[in-house]
Amino acid sequence: MDYHIHTQFSDGEADYKEVIDLSIERQLKSIAITDHFDPFDKALRNKDASYEDLYEHFNRIKAYAAHKEIEVLCGIETCTDFKGNLRVSDKVFNLCDVIITSPHYIEFKGEIEKEQYFNPFYWESYKQKVLNMAEGEGHMLGHPEGYLPIKEMLLPGRTTYEERKVICRQIADRFFDEAYIKDLGSRLRKSGKAYEIHGATHTPREWVIKNLALEPIIFSIGSDAHAMNLLGANEWGYEMARKYSLKLIFDKQL
Ligand SMILES: [Zn+2]
Ligand SMILES: [Zn+2]
Repeated sequence: MDYHIHTQFSDGEADYKEVIDLSIERQLKSIAITDHFDPFDKALRNKDASYEDLYEHFNRIKAYAAHKEIEVLCGIETCTDFKGNLRVSDKVFNLCDVIITSPHYIEFKGEIEKEQYFNPFYWESYKQKVLNMAEGEGHMLGHPEGYLPIKEMLLPGRTTYEERKVICRQIADRFFDEAYIKDLGSRLRKSGKAYEIHGATHTPREWVIKNLALEPIIFSIGSDAHAMNLLGANEWGYEMARKYSLKLIFDKQL
């Protein structure tokens, strides 16, 4: 399975046909195409995409997938407001099989300084937003420990992808403690929203999965593939799912 995939509709490398064909080749049984759709995220290439654009995109996917040996869900990845409420129209909401809400940005009023990655006020706001999102609308909470919103702290060209992953891990270790994970778990249990095991970054930390599994909550497994080498790269997620007998979204079994 792979419930987090991007195509050329947003910032993915391949078109939906390549994604579907390659998914079959890689023996995936069920996938979700979840392009970015967030009119409030100015950084997005497709920030101006409309309901009609999405409708057409989904129709093309469904037509192409109809006679293929794979389940293809149509959805979006979007950020919420600070309270965890979706900011897409009801029409968009009803069109989607699945909605991933990811904390791509936070509403932070304080000052953000370059290369100061450990501002405790910033990360307190982040945690509060993620807690709100856990209780809020949408089906999955996307990569809450990976791809943290540090863009405004970065100096262009100064860090590599790998270095940014290390920074995110250090932030998680410093601020995302057991009490926070406990709170997150109980909110996810109440809302029934799934927590994403993120193939691209191998997040969250293993002890987080272990603790959340005890709650128990539902998990989702997604690669977040933008480039096709990552499509279906969820071996680590499967390993975690087996090791901790995770409950998976849509009642899927491995
Ligand atoms: Zn994302
Ligand atoms: Zn994504």
